[in-house]
Amino acid sequence: MSERTGVTIGVLALQGAFHEHIARFASLNASANVSVRSIAVRRPEQLAQCDALVIPGGESTAIALGLHNAGLTEPLRAWIREGRPVWGTCAGMIMLANTATGGKRGGQELLGGLPIQVGRNGFGSQVNSFECDVHCPALGETPFPGVFIRAPVVEALSAADHKGTLPVSHSPDDMHDLFPHTPVQPIAWIPPAADAASDPSRIVAVRHGRLLATSFHPELTTDTRLHNYFVQMVLDTA
Ligand code: GLN
Repeated sequence: MSERTGVTIGVLALQGAFHEHIARFASLNASANVSVRSIAVRRPEQLAQCDALVIPGGESTAIALGLHNAGLTEPLRAWIREGRPVWGTCAGMIMLANTATGGKRGGQELLGGLPIQVGRNGFGSQVNSFECDVHCPALGETPFPGVFIRAPVVEALSAADHKGTLPVSHSPDDMHDLFPHTPVQPIAWIPPAADAASDPSRIVAVRHGRLLATSFHPELTTDTRLHNYFVQMVLDTA
């Protein structure tokens, strides 16, 4: 952590639900024992001000294009390779995955770093959006209110299975094996609870080293436990 008394969380603000993330981090300050500052990130040089970054939900192809146009794709990959903390929500989870199926025809650009395979829109289209309780033991007994909007499905806890819908997109080779001794850790599931732990498609949040990804939108609820969890993760791994 820098000499600042607190944590600065950058929220990638090119497309999608970035305002909501910034508001959620701002609302943590009332209760947290650390001062949390969140800033909108649109340019590569802003990364230097951040202790961690959030890639919001939205549309992964639009985010990929925005990153490219802003000259942020490679600086962000370098940031991830350095082991800086990053949290991707929904489209952000797709951006962090090393493999995605069901993407844009011809494939789409992924940042990578997270050795999972996701199925884009795997829960269905906009009309199939749903809300349901998410079981996340790290947050305690009370379920987290999960908002799923054209959410990605975790198809495999490795990037090598390629079982889903074509086309398959891959992140560049230098984004693979960033934390070779750290397994991908599922941290949240949706029902059915009985087999949820062993069924990848019921896994809706994972952690790998300093990368966190959720297939749902915690920023669209007033429950700030996952925002707090990310801040603690940033502090614990600093
Ligand atoms: N399906 C969208 C995508 O491909 C993600 C949806 C979301 O972030 N709510 O990027």
